Amino acid sequence: MPGTGDDGGPAAGRVLTLLHRRGPLTRAAVTAELGLAASAVGTALSDLAALDLVRVGEPRRGSSGASTGRGRPSPVVEVNPDGPVAVAVQVSADRVTVGRVGLDRRISHVREHALTSADTDPATLIPALADAISDAAHGTERRCAGVCIAMPGFIREHDGFVRSTLHLGWNDVPLAQRLGGMVPISVPVAVGRAATLAVLAEFRYGAGRGAASMLALTCERVGIGGGFIDAGVPLTGGGHALEAGHIIVEPGGLRCPCGARGCLEMYADSRALLRAAGRRRHVREDAATGIFDDAAAGDHAAREAVRVTAGHLVTGLTSLVNTLAPERVVLMGFLADLYRAAEDLVRDGLTASSVVARAGRIEVTTGDLRHATLVGAAERAFAPLLRQPRTVLDATPS
Ligand SMILES: [Zn+2]
Repeated sequence: MPGTGDDGGPAAGRVLTLLHRRGPLTRAAVTAELGLAASAVGTALSDLAALDLVRVGEPRRGSSGASTGRGRPSPVVEVNPDGPVAVAVQVSADRVTVGRVGLDRRISHVREHALTSADTDPATLIPALADAISDAAHGTERRCAGVCIAMPGFIREHDGFVRSTLHLGWNDVPLAQRLGGMVPISVPVAVGRAATLAVLAEFRYGAGRGAASMLALTCERVGIGGGFIDAGVPLTGGGHALEAGHIIVEPGGLRCPCGARGCLEMYADSRALLRAAGRRRHVREDAATGIFDDAAAGDHAAREAVRVTAGHLVTGLTSLVNTLAPERVVLMGFLADLYRAAEDLVRDGLTASSVVARAGRIEVTTGDLRHATLVGAAERAFAPLLRQPRTVLDATPS
């Protein structure tokens, strides 16, 4: 059968990708959606079921928006919720988060490891990452189909090379290569740019669904990242777009680790909110929450800090919206909290300052996914399996 050859074939890959992206569908809906012959879909599903990648359920009549053909019931097919996992790792300025993600995007085994400045040296952190990946991959009977580490900063993705991560102090670290020798599993280790992965996840499965174009800004308390997706295609700029945190919002202002002065992330991340509120303690996870609570309770200093910080966000957003003209703006992490605390201010401020926002309807909203970066990292880790299911599974003994 063409397309369902020894490698699991393009038909099997297309069927698996569709079920991964869309969830359970009738077999008839899969056939209609992919425009394949029913026999090709049947063969692909048999192959995928034999590989434990999909489950074929009981027939269902006339659901999932597709004709079942001559009124016959069509079985519901879905990715196997007990099938292979991706190990997804998110490295932030102050922590490492590891999780196992299934093809149905269910996340299990989430482990957070706090980082102090003593832990961030590559000689210390890379072996710790290798241990965490091994624990996640080997602590389950499910097969590990891929690993991806989401790193902040400037990443050369094709070979997993970290050019620089400003908040960890890394420069020119061949992360994928060094991990490859330390992680005792047979799948390759991918390294991706954290913000790009998080934004892709929101676009496919979260607040970006249905948008023709989406600008998203991410903030894991320290630093701001971003991404722009147009017609499903992320703007990459050679791997360095969109460094939204380094848009200058205050010329001659505070010195940023990037070397410039007045960058957005110096004025609109959670450190900036603490500073604006006169609370100069180190960034604890709940410190910003306390300011939002105080502002909601009417505390003048807290309300002023929220107003000032949200104002800087508007300044940065204005430049980005005027440049990119997105249909939807999605604010994630700390910026989602900031937006919820100052929604009218951000909306009205953007309308007042952005000619593009005035010219067309731009929807501003917050991220939907609890672990967007892990979901995005799993997308990258699963990519080879979704292209060639059998080839990847043959290389990864259970
Ligand atoms: Zn900067």
